[in-house]
Amino acid sequence: MVKFCPQCKNAFWGGQYCPKCEGEVLLLDMANQENRKYLPELNVDVRPKYFARSSMLLTCFGFIMALPVGAFVFLRGLSSSGNVTLWASIGVATVVGISWGAWVASKKIFDKQMASVKEAKELQLD
Ligand SMILES: [Zn+2]
Repeated sequence: MVKFCPQCKNAFWGGQYCPKCEGEVLLLDMANQENRKYLPELNVDVRPKYFARSSMLLTCFGFIMALPVGAFVFLRGLSSSGNVTLWASIGVATVVGISWGAWVASKKIFDKQMASVKEAKELQLD
């Protein structure tokens, strides 16, 4: 959970009160819709973290889906003709292709999203 302080504009991992500000300044939850309006004012840009997470999910999904699709292609081809070597290589090529495609696509999407992020702010990437 990412929280931020409306006073010093810093972002923190959880907690109730801001550890940097004097007194008890209540931290706001970034996930709440009504707190989104503060995001452009923050010192730290948290968008890369969310962009990285969606790219990671896409890559993960591609790697997981590649194997069953490759196996399906292999078995389907094998049932129509008996050429094991041919369909095994097509199956492996499918697995590699989908994995690689998902990887490249997620990198492209991430770079495209990051284009809107200005370097002026400190990026929160952890
Ligand atoms: Zn603060």
